[in-house]
Amino acid sequence: MYTKVKGTYDLLPNDARKYSYIEDFLKDTASLFGYEEIRVPILATSDLIHRSTGESSDIVTKETYDFKDRGDRIITLRPEGTAPVIRSIIENKLYATNALPLKLFYMGEMFRYERPQKGRFREFRQFGVEVVGTSSPYMDAEVILLATTIFKDLNINNFKVRLNTLGDDESRNNYRNALKEYFSDKLDSLCEDCKKRFEKNPLRILDCKVDKDSEILLNAPKVSDYLSQKSKDDFEIVKSYLDELDVPYVVDEKLVRGLDYYTNTIFEFELLDSESGQSGTICAGGRYDNLTSDLDGPKLGSIGFAFGLERLISIVNFDFDLTHSINCQFIPIGENAKKNLLKVMQYLRTMGFISEMNYEATSLKGHFKSADSNKARYLIIQGDDELERGVVKVKDKLNNTEEEVDIKDLNNLLDYLMDLENKYLDDISEGE
Ligand code: ATP
Ligand code: MG
Repeated sequence: MYTKVKGTYDLLPNDARKYSYIEDFLKDTASLFGYEEIRVPILATSDLIHRSTGESSDIVTKETYDFKDRGDRIITLRPEGTAPVIRSIIENKLYATNALPLKLFYMGEMFRYERPQKGRFREFRQFGVEVVGTSSPYMDAEVILLATTIFKDLNINNFKVRLNTLGDDESRNNYRNALKEYFSDKLDSLCEDCKKRFEKNPLRILDCKVDKDSEILLNAPKVSDYLSQKSKDDFEIVKSYLDELDVPYVVDEKLVRGLDYYTNTIFEFELLDSESGQSGTICAGGRYDNLTSDLDGPKLGSIGFAFGLERLISIVNFDFDLTHSINCQFIPIGENAKKNLLKVMQYLRTMGFISEMNYEATSLKGHFKSADSNKARYLIIQGDDELERGVVKVKDKLNNTEEEVDIKDLNNLLDYLMDLENKYLDDISEGE
């Protein structure tokens, strides 16, 4: 038997429906904030991914899918969306042809060679936004507000925003030096990965999952002591905007984030209770003011975030009806009616009625069974007698009515069905 690749999963119709619903919701919500969609390739040059995420990031050191294609190009399956989107903006000079800031969202598959476990896959999906071409801390706050809105509108309220700032280049440099000095005589007590991080990017030691509760890490210098006045002021603006809009956040000085390109504001959305067995980060992001210039574009202040769709969807309560149902089940009795109904069925489809026929059923029982499993509202039945008289029987399962409808003019059938639909809508609104 053939099986799926380790770390991947199938979305069967019941689950695909949920993904589709959430994807539509995310698009609509991002649109309300003025975002447009961008779609970029899954295949990226390894150069781009390795340069952008940083040589010390987990993604590059152990998680990328790298391979040589048949033309000897070194390719990486994109592990995240930001670098490919920024590459596209620079390559297509969007920053020159469009008004700034650019506000873009993306959605799609990402690939990381990780140890598969709950909420962690090798092929997974992210929804993310990137705002490119603004340094305003107001935008930092608005981006966090967008992520907050997504949670709240999905009725997820048990989340917490962890917020921190890494400061501008000057602050980061000073802080980096302070960390180097602090850790230089404590290397022996750090894990193997952290020894490497010390060389490449000491900030990332603070993100270590192994050493995180050790005395050494708890007593490490704090970024807040190394921030420039500008970075402090900007961070105050971010916080006051969030206060103004009642976004619940906590400042967490230990937050550094896994990728090397972050500057200034960074944040993570974490689920609070672990009752459901789900914990950890659902959404993460921050400002990356140096990435566009690192990727050989102009320097453009930028900020974004990414949601893990699997983790998001696993905490949504789907208590509304998403089940598959159709409008019209066509039921021919005999071959002549079957052929005759094909055109009628196609006509109703063009008018927006989801319509189906079971071509193999040989008994009424078989047709009714299909109608049941399709949750069809209308049964449209025709035998030789009806065919001769140019009519069909329309059975409305909702109202339990059955009537003969003349279909010599197909508009007649449409009018009849529309009347039933409108009556149904009126009944619902009266009931409210
Ligand atoms: P983690 O600390 O969980 O490894 P990360 O810092 O690597 O996350 P990011 O690169 O910031 O994650 O990606 C943003 C979001 O994408 C995460 O918060 C998570 O929801 C999701 N995500 C990351 N890696 C995976 C994965 N392997 N499978 C499913 N979702 C993932
Ligand atoms: Mg990770």
